[in-house]
Amino acid sequence: MTEQRVRRVVIAGGGTAGWVAAAALVKQLGPMLDITLVESDEIGTVGVGESTIPTARRFHQLLTIDERIFMRETQASFKLGIAFENWTRDGSRYFHSFGQIGRPSTWMADFHHFWLEAREKGFGGDLGDYCLELQAAAAGRFATGPDATIQHAYHLDATLYARFLRRLSEGAGVRRVEGKIARVEQDPESGFLTALALESGARIEGDLFLDCTGFRALLIEQTLGAGFEDWGHWISTDSAFAIQTRATEDAVPYTRAIAHQAGWRWKIPLQHRVGNGLVFCSEFLSPDAARQQLLDAVEGEVLTEPRLIRYKTGQRRKVWDRNCIALGLSSGFIEPLESTSIHLIQVAITRLIQTFPFSGVGEAQAERFNAQARHEMERIRDFIILHYHLNARDGPFWQRCREMSVPDTLVERLALFGEAAHAYQAADDLFRVDSWVQVLFGQGLAPRGYHQLARMMPPEELRNAFGGIRGDIAAAVQAMPRHGDFLKSYCPAGDA
Ligand SMILES: Cc1cc2nc3c(=O)[nH]c(=O)nc-3n(C[C@H](O)[C@H](O)[C@H](O)COP(=O)(O)OP(=O)(O)OC[C@H]3O[C@@H](n4cnc5c(N)ncnc54)[C@H](O)[C@@H]3O)c2cc1C
Repeated sequence: MTEQRVRRVVIAGGGTAGWVAAAALVKQLGPMLDITLVESDEIGTVGVGESTIPTARRFHQLLTIDERIFMRETQASFKLGIAFENWTRDGSRYFHSFGQIGRPSTWMADFHHFWLEAREKGFGGDLGDYCLELQAAAAGRFATGPDATIQHAYHLDATLYARFLRRLSEGAGVRRVEGKIARVEQDPESGFLTALALESGARIEGDLFLDCTGFRALLIEQTLGAGFEDWGHWISTDSAFAIQTRATEDAVPYTRAIAHQAGWRWKIPLQHRVGNGLVFCSEFLSPDAARQQLLDAVEGEVLTEPRLIRYKTGQRRKVWDRNCIALGLSSGFIEPLESTSIHLIQVAITRLIQTFPFSGVGEAQAERFNAQARHEMERIRDFIILHYHLNARDGPFWQRCREMSVPDTLVERLALFGEAAHAYQAADDLFRVDSWVQVLFGQGLAPRGYHQLARMMPPEELRNAFGGIRGDIAAAVQAMPRHGDFLKSYCPAGDA
């Protein structure tokens, strides 16, 4: 514990992590803090990270961000989930939607047990028939409003998002300093960080430092050596090419994740353009071949050169070390298959605000923070491994994924679901039962049994209830406009 009071917060880095942190801190604690953000235009940002999950909405509410303005300024579109194509085998497709499946409040057991019973009786249809968000996504329709309960997230332009948050932050009093950090100064005894020395000769002193320098991890790793736990043996993709193309059609309200021989490809539709990328394992696909594969697959005019990004999957051993907290890519990285990184930035900064160490940095608090970050990352890690592990695809990359041993926590989940279709959500888990169920079924795991409670419902009653849910959802989707039309009336962005 240091007795030094915390008033001066220095944020190193101005990518999504840096500006998300700045905007949240100044909004919530502004009058009590002196916040400076240092970034280097010459170094730039990672330039990807355009698909989000619904927690982004809660975070924006915290910042009292108006959805329409935010969407206009970031060329955003709505996202209802992810379409997984070719993941079990070529030609296969399933959705992981953000919605709730069925009507759990009416059931003692999770809805999918009743669906399994209905299937056995021959009238269940697809699980997705009972999810509004999934049906709307599949139909390319969308609507929201003050009373709407539809669960949605966004696709956004990462550069415009940082710019949008920067404007909010600077407007509320955050000081931005342009320049390259040359050295990080430390107290010789405690090792606590004291200042950032810039190439220009300027020194930025602080009490608390947020490392938002991306994969460089300039403060947390290069200076403090917090350590990195490598998860590459479970998630062996290590590279991505990213490229932007002009939109050739109205945006669909979902991200596409299309498996290929050594990874997968994303397609993220914004209002003005499409973000595309190819994630791959360089052991099984060369960068040249990956680049060509991406160029061959994209549609529409290519707007940018394909850019190679190399990464390591894993977690910083301590995301909070002494008076430095890593946020964003400097804190660790799990590839973007379920678009979770921006979420992790937003929950981390929210957690910091909730227990902000005004009267000095305490060890217990740092340990708690680290434990929570670890828990979150490990659960997301398991969820991502699930997609790779349960596959029936051909080829050495997929065979290795299928045959690898997976973390015990995932082994348990697979066994529970395999035995009797039980899925669960532990406290603090990001992914709910609905998410696990959609992906477990989607990846082809057929449970050997299900809850017997489902048998107690007379078949006719079950059939009527299921027909009712399906009918309500179909009618609600039918009443929605096309997603592209809704965007044009709700938050038209015009040309970027
Ligand atoms: C291929 C790929 C796809 C992704 N897709 C998604 C997605 O769909 N959804 C999602 O949620 N997340 C995604 N992510 C993650 C997401 O991109 C990041 O979480 C997010 O952009 C935050 O990045 P950052 O701010 O930590 O780092 P960066 O954007 O790299 O920013 C680092 C900042 O530090 C500054 N900096 C570095 N060194 C110095 C120095 N010496 N001096 C001064 N300044 C310095 C840079 O100038 C920059 O401002 C993806 C990541 C990758 C690699």
